[in-house]
Amino acid sequence: MAHPQPMPQLTPQPRAHVALIPTYVPGKPPTPRPGLTTYKLSSNENPYPPLPGVLEAATAAAAVMNRYPDMGSTALYDALAVRLGVPVSDLAAATGSVALVYQLLAAFCDPGDEVVHAWRSFEAYPIAVTTAGATSVQVPLTADGRHDLEAMAAAVTDRTKVVMICTPNNPTGPSVTQSELTGFLAAVPSHVVVVVDEAYLEFVRMEDAVDGVATYRAHPNVVLFRTFSKAYGLAGFRVGYAVASTPVAAALRAVSLPFGVSHVAQVAAIASLAAEDALLERVDALVLERDRVVAGLAGAGWAFPEPQGNFVWLALAERTADFAAACDAAGIVVRPFAGEGCRVSIGEPEGNDRLLAVVAAFGHS
Ligand SMILES: *Cc1c(COP(=O)(O)O)cnc(C)c1O
Repeated sequence: MAHPQPMPQLTPQPRAHVALIPTYVPGKPPTPRPGLTTYKLSSNENPYPPLPGVLEAATAAAAVMNRYPDMGSTALYDALAVRLGVPVSDLAAATGSVALVYQLLAAFCDPGDEVVHAWRSFEAYPIAVTTAGATSVQVPLTADGRHDLEAMAAAVTDRTKVVMICTPNNPTGPSVTQSELTGFLAAVPSHVVVVVDEAYLEFVRMEDAVDGVATYRAHPNVVLFRTFSKAYGLAGFRVGYAVASTPVAAALRAVSLPFGVSHVAQVAAIASLAAEDALLERVDALVLERDRVVAGLAGAGWAFPEPQGNFVWLALAERTADFAAACDAAGIVVRPFAGEGCRVSIGEPEGNDRLLAVVAAFGHS
């Protein structure tokens, strides 16, 4: 009698590109230093606690955690539509603007399609692009940490579905100007989606700054990504939104995770919009601290790209790890990018003082 051969054991196999997805490196918490207050300058968070009205609204909203949230985020859309002067049909809310990156690629990219973005830029871009099975086309920044929009326009091919513009650019800091953006949009075919990721919009203080809403109105292929995580201080609640022409916004909503934005997050975002004057005062205070850090770094002879967000970029190259260690010893944690540089968030004045003290002791960048 023939003995049946054992079947080879098959195991579940993820799609091939899953093995290629880069790992997201989150900003670390500070090392505890007994007797020393430590400061987290590694994730570009707003260091201020939520305004009292926001905390109270969110706390009250938590009482109905047994219920699903409003899947249509109706009240949040209404508040945003009033605030921005755009129709509700042109909005798409999501669990942070990182989720919008995934949704946009899910909606617009087939496997092998190309997504053009600057590099180095927001580390979530290549992660999301690879996850979508698309191809990340990385265009080097200029020597002063700016987007090279001419090179990015030249990198657009027949396979390009999306271009990501990160302004201000995380982690280097500079913003593109409206003139640069307008020129870029004229050079790129109108079927290519151009994302303007404005996560740090509220911190921008420059001439010829991008007017995102006017740009989206003039260009049906432009998508603005905005977030409540940075200036608005709601990073932990995960809420962001896109502003785009009606068909693009509809596509973003169609591929969204059902019930993704929690009720607490929706309520906190609405309360933050209502408390906007007070929040923007805090943003002004952070911009003043940024100015103080910039003056301190320049006074110590350091060169760095123009920061338009709530962070500075120190291109330390092979001294990156040493600088991060010196910061850690001083009770501040920064975000090192091995061999490239450190991104340092603008935090509480005392944390910023510590940074300047480390800089003074460390010598020129
Ligand atoms: C922080 C950040 C975001 C926002 O992320 P959320 O998911 O909204 O918290 C988006 N884009 C850039 C460039 C960022 O730095």
